[in-house]
Amino acid sequence: MKRTETTIETYQVQIVRRRKPETEAWCSACAAAVRMVTPEAAAALSAVTPRTIYRRIEAGQLHFIETPDGTLFICTNSLI
Ligand SMILES: [Zn+2]
Repeated sequence: MKRTETTIETYQVQIVRRRKPETEAWCSACAAAVRMVTPEAAAALSAVTPRTIYRRIEAGQLHFIETPDGTLFICTNSLI
């Protein structure tokens, strides 16, 4: 019983962490620890579509990092 509870708790923590739309990380372009958000959150912040955000990433206009699980985080400094 106790083991089951622990497993569920760990699972929920992982889900919450994975769905978190923002994080703080080192941006090598800014040479600073900055607030990073997902492309979807970046789109909402900039009032554009996620597609526009991806296009700006490809054009090199936005700083970003990629986590080991493939999630992109955009540097909010480069959004403004
Ligand atoms: Zn940056």
